[in-house]
Amino acid sequence: MTDADTLAGLKRLNNTYQMFHAFTADTDPGDAVFLFSAKDNLTSKDFETCCGSRILEGYRPVFDATAIANLRRAGGKLIGKTNMDEFGFGTFSTNSAFGVPKNPFDRERSCGGSSGGSACAAAILDGHVSLGVSTGGSVCCPASFCGVYGLVPTYGRVSRYGLIDYGNSLDKIGLLARDPAKLKQYLPVIAGKDPHDPTSACQPPLELKGAKIRSVAVPQEAVEGISTDVKNAFENGLETLRSLDVDVEYVDVPELRYAMPAYYILATSEASTNLARYCGMRYGRQDGDYTLGFDAYFSSFRTDYFGDEAKRRILLGTYTRMEGFRDRYYAKALQVRMDVIDAYKRIFAGHDAVLTPTMPFVSPKFADISQMSAVETYKTDFLTVPPNLAGTPHLNCPCGYNAAGLPVGMQFVTDHWQEDKLVTMAAEWNKIFNVRVPEVKA
Ligand code: GLN
Repeated sequence: MTDADTLAGLKRLNNTYQMFHAFTADTDPGDAVFLFSAKDNLTSKDFETCCGSRILEGYRPVFDATAIANLRRAGGKLIGKTNMDEFGFGTFSTNSAFGVPKNPFDRERSCGGSSGGSACAAAILDGHVSLGVSTGGSVCCPASFCGVYGLVPTYGRVSRYGLIDYGNSLDKIGLLARDPAKLKQYLPVIAGKDPHDPTSACQPPLELKGAKIRSVAVPQEAVEGISTDVKNAFENGLETLRSLDVDVEYVDVPELRYAMPAYYILATSEASTNLARYCGMRYGRQDGDYTLGFDAYFSSFRTDYFGDEAKRRILLGTYTRMEGFRDRYYAKALQVRMDVIDAYKRIFAGHDAVLTPTMPFVSPKFADISQMSAVETYKTDFLTVPPNLAGTPHLNCPCGYNAAGLPVGMQFVTDHWQEDKLVTMAAEWNKIFNVRVPEVKA
């Protein structure tokens, strides 16, 4: 399929899959070298940027996020901004105020979240690469549910300039693609120091020289409580890795059990302060009732335009930072974060990577998701949260399909700055694993 065909089909595809919040009407690729899309929490000059939230409706940034600017400079054409959970709050992209992306393998199921639209675009558009963002798993989760590769570089490797904050100490821009060669091709384009983001300033050079993963540690804790479908595909994946001469060893990593609660304390603490800037005066909608006093104006505006999950996280994050509770929750969660980092360092002293399934189950049906409580949803992130807390790079590789043809993914985690090993593994894996292309309906 040519780029012109892709552009000509976007509207039709979006009606069926709802992967884009906004997309180009241009059907001529012009002199574009490649097409790409970006999650709607990355600022872009020529599209509205809403982060899946009604509170930002109408916000048109005046600048491109550095990652988007770099891809454009390399000849990329940004074709659309992808649907996502509001501000990244979610695991299924169902917390989007706009379209909810539909899984390309079964439209009654989720694309995962919160970069669900990006994973959907990567799965159904030929040769496509999409920018996603991960705070606690939002690249690997949707990549796993949509059967594509998803790469999250080390925290700080890619500038966060123009990334609308969820949790500043956790947010990372990553890449999603069906073809892992795209990860190798575009990671160097988006990576690097950026004077606009000091957290990108102290990084060793990115060198993609083909370093290999020769040994993986599989935490016992990670294979408890996963579905049979995932277990079978993951065990087949381990067998295949052994046939590639990769040593597989089961290890105990008790710290991993505490990563998920620590993450939800830290992420919501940061989110609750970040969301304070949306008050109906600075960004996006500004159509509240101006006859009200300051406080009443802000309260009514935020009540009307934040979704339920955003409100829940503001409450939770404010509580965990409050005087009297801070030490018990926020400070404790920071300690757990250090413990998780130490646990990874311990493992990396003897292994190249940590390997787990990416999600504990295949993509669920929307009907089942609507029955899940917030806490039940949070718990499903227990495998993707640890590398995000540690800031270590990680990769989703599709590793199998269940009897209904739904994809299963496995997640490799390497030490800080070792993206090379992940990119090499993705390429090596792709030579022997047949990634299925979903049958696209329009
Ligand atoms: N599901 C996690 C959350 O809701 C992770 C989301 C993300 O990485 N943005 O916080």
